[in-house]
Amino acid sequence: MRELATDILILGSGGAGLFAALHAHQAAPQLSITVAVKGLLGKCGCTRMVQGGYNVALAAGDSIERHFMDTIEGGKWLPNQELAWKLVNLAVERIHELENELGCFFDRNPDGTVHQKAFAGQTFDRTVHKGDLTGIEIINRLAEQVWARDIRRLEEHRAVELIKAKDEEAISGVLFIDMRTGEYVLVRAKAVLLATGGGPTMYRYHTPSGDKSCDGLAMALRAGLALRDMEMVQFHPTGLLAGAHTRMTGTVLEEGLRGAGGYLLDANRERFMHKYDPKLERATRDIVSRAIFSEMRAGRVTPNGGVYISMGHLGRDRVAKDFKGMVERCADSGFDLAGGLVEVVPTAHYMMGGVEFEPDCATRLPGLFVAGEDAGGVHGANRLGGNGVANSTVFGGVAGEAMAAWVAAEGALREPDRAQIDAARARCERPFANKASAHGAIEPVREALYDLMWDKVGIIRDAAGLRAALSGLGAIETELDAGALADHNRAFNLSWHDWMNLKSLIQVSRVIAHAAAAREDSRGAHFREDSPTAGPLEASAYTSARLAAAAADVEIALRPVAFTRVRPGESLLAAA
Ligand SMILES: Cc1cc2nc3c(=O)[nH]c(=O)nc-3n(C[C@H](O)[C@H](O)[C@H](O)COP(=O)(O)OP(=O)(O)OC[C@H]3O[C@@H](n4cnc5c(N)ncnc54)[C@H](O)[C@@H]3O)c2cc1C
Repeated sequence: MRELATDILILGSGGAGLFAALHAHQAAPQLSITVAVKGLLGKCGCTRMVQGGYNVALAAGDSIERHFMDTIEGGKWLPNQELAWKLVNLAVERIHELENELGCFFDRNPDGTVHQKAFAGQTFDRTVHKGDLTGIEIINRLAEQVWARDIRRLEEHRAVELIKAKDEEAISGVLFIDMRTGEYVLVRAKAVLLATGGGPTMYRYHTPSGDKSCDGLAMALRAGLALRDMEMVQFHPTGLLAGAHTRMTGTVLEEGLRGAGGYLLDANRERFMHKYDPKLERATRDIVSRAIFSEMRAGRVTPNGGVYISMGHLGRDRVAKDFKGMVERCADSGFDLAGGLVEVVPTAHYMMGGVEFEPDCATRLPGLFVAGEDAGGVHGANRLGGNGVANSTVFGGVAGEAMAAWVAAEGALREPDRAQIDAARARCERPFANKASAHGAIEPVREALYDLMWDKVGIIRDAAGLRAALSGLGAIETELDAGALADHNRAFNLSWHDWMNLKSLIQVSRVIAHAAAAREDSRGAHFREDSPTAGPLEASAYTSARLAAAAADVEIALRPVAFTRVRPGESLLAAA
């Protein structure tokens, strides 16, 4: 096993990881900083995939209080209000930094002000964007800035375990697999940032990049940390549905299509949203996703099993001009968005849940910090479109500064717990140690997981389904554990990495199912058919999940939400 040492180690190179690297470097240029990432820096993760844009209260008439209230109400009163407050405040600073220091060009109005567009669930048009490819602009500029500095990169290095110190409760480093060789690498560090971006890729239809398999959340659980709000998985209503043979299935067709007046149609080509919400197709993501799922359950489905989106009544030329990227994406899969019908299906998009953390990104494990989609509590029961990339860039920067300060005050290269390293390696080695058998092929395990999570822990849930899911997850994991892999060549051994991806996904799926079973009400993204009301907002509680002492199962606690800035029924706008 190769061993390296660094002052600050950052896992992931999305908006959170790269901002952390830049801010840590700015705060303490003398420190050694290493960004380690499963893909290539600047080319992987979901920040690069951001289409719509970035929420920030910039325009006259908007305010951080209004952005805050939209975030709290959108989150159905479950967000941690101190985290949400920090998000809306620092988003302003961060967008100026992105433009003026890092060189991003965002779209502008004729008078030179930044153009901000409408997104669902917001009372003000506040989404800053670069056409419909905002993420590429942000990540390219961030990557260039990181490349230009003395920041070490470990690309195609997959983190597999957070390694604690031998004799004290603190982080000592991270165990990796160098995917290019298959070699184990221990990176010792004084401070570590977890920024691996969550990613609900355990559902049949999903939007996030393929490198995301909840590894960070699974590692945090094994390190004894608590995850909150894990039942809150956001489904985007209109994922492209182009058949099982293509990875285009599940990718997002943006919300602006419905916003502009697009219709959703059932198999009989009739609109159905009037049965579910007076706002019809412009209802929020959770409501539209549930409506589509209900139509699917009733069997009123298209050839590939979803519903249609139809835009032609708005005029072919207008649709082709306003939604050029979407029209091209659909054409690639054989659909005519501008004039015809396109098959769509709800698709798992974002995890509101994640590691519990403090406003300075510290976790309960000294020296370990968290930011971005791995972190829980900012969005509560629902993330507003546009608050995701704001979240990762805001808290990434905060984490960078906090880690620099931590290293100055308490940083030390602590002696790693070698027994923990051995156990982690044995876990990774398991499929090579197994004898070849008829069981455990990876593809059927993945398919079984997709179906189970989609059917029983997806858009509409109930107690019996969640119980069945938990026992099903046990069976799926047993099947995976029985799998054997030939140990011919570990360089880019994608079967091995798929096996480890599935291990992480199953572990986190179990937490989602337990949290969904514990929350016996319906809020935002979490809908219980056997308990469809929200319950009293004053008594709002969030779920907090940990591995139980035996480490085989999950314990869930319900903890009251602290209304530190505003209580249900009140508004900061009224007070302002
Ligand atoms: C299609 C799509 C469109 C979106 N559009 C918007 C939008 O318009 N507005 C908005 O606000 N949000 C949007 N989002 C959400 C947004 O992308 C995320 O909220 C945000 O970018 C997450 O940033 P992050 O830094 O936490 O993670 P990411 O940017 O996803 O980065 C995670 C990083 O961790 C790495 N990694 C993963 N596992 C490991 C491991 N085991 N070891 C080492 N590295 C690892 C990955 O390779 C990657 O580099 C969209 C998401 C998708 C999928």
